[in-house]
Amino acid sequence: MSRFKVFITRPIPKEIRAKIEAECEVDMWHTSAILPPIAERISPLDGLLTYGHELVTPEMIATAPNLKAISVMGVGYDHVHVEACRERGIAVGHTPGVLSDTTADMTMALLLAAARNIVPAYNHVQVSKQWKYYDPNILWGTDVHHSTLGIVGMGRIGHAVAKRARAFDMRVLYYKRERREDWEQELGVEYVTLENLLEASDFVTLHVPLTEETTHLIGKTELALMKKTAILVNIARGPVVDHYALHDALKDGQIAGAAVDVTEPEPINTDHPLLSLDNVIIAPHLGSATIQTRMKMATMAMENLLAGLKGEQLPYGVLQPNF
Ligand code: NAP
Repeated sequence: MSRFKVFITRPIPKEIRAKIEAECEVDMWHTSAILPPIAERISPLDGLLTYGHELVTPEMIATAPNLKAISVMGVGYDHVHVEACRERGIAVGHTPGVLSDTTADMTMALLLAAARNIVPAYNHVQVSKQWKYYDPNILWGTDVHHSTLGIVGMGRIGHAVAKRARAFDMRVLYYKRERREDWEQELGVEYVTLENLLEASDFVTLHVPLTEETTHLIGKTELALMKKTAILVNIARGPVVDHYALHDALKDGQIAGAAVDVTEPEPINTDHPLLSLDNVIIAPHLGSATIQTRMKMATMAMENLLAGLKGEQLPYGVLQPNF
């Protein structure tokens, strides 16, 4: 019997790749430096494992008559055209939950770095070597403890952020479409409208998926509602924030700072005006990037892929196989 043909879009840990190779003929793109040529490789495939956010379009899917499974190594599958998969009965899986704590840790890292001037401190001491004497009057930050945090889109990651925020004695407000009274009991978080959250928070952190509804959820109007002292953290997806409006708000002092893990586009263009500001921190999409979590994500992605190829229930499915 011929073996399943699979394309993996970026290098994954070799132990996991070996498990896929035991059952499939594997073509793995060798680098993250050049975008994987999915369109060129997809037509003979039975399975695709995407590790990155490259688009998988209906046109690409239409050229692959044998395609049975698309396994996303990550949570959030906005780059895969799920409707086109549904029409064809192609299974789609992703890796939710396993990265929530890690992404919540990164959220706090960004929030704390922005609040306490960690990047300017690093530049002062290690880059420009200006630390000649102790100066008690430089780089004053803002308190995180006992401040108010607004969580926009409180699901798995937002919940994990709320737990961390409670340990900092923060007041936590949250906004999502469906209220979670159980979480209010558990964590003491308060359900508010988006407008009230923006007006009342010292820190606003975004954890919504990217959908039509959440594209540019935070734009000029929303930024104008925030406190002038507030800091915005975006670790969801770049297009959730209108970057030109964010640039203007940061430049004009409408808000005090921002720390983002995701941009629009990714990577952000080197001449993007945001890069000229010193009150924004930009990380290159590192939310789930730890050794332990990436191994767990690769394992889940492998399990989804192999199940989907065989027409079995995906353990972490978005769409189950129907072919
Ligand atoms: P999740 O558990 O599905 O939570 C998403 C939350 O967003 C839910 O509470 C949902 O609640 C809310 N939501 C959805 N649409 C909304 C809208 N229009 N307005 C307000 N709230 C809305 O997902 P998760 O695992 O926490 O992950 C969230 C997102 O984080 C992912 O989709 C992904 O894009 C991003 N992410 C980024 C990284 C990174 O490396 N930077 C890592 C992991 C995940 P309601 O349905 O009640 O509104």
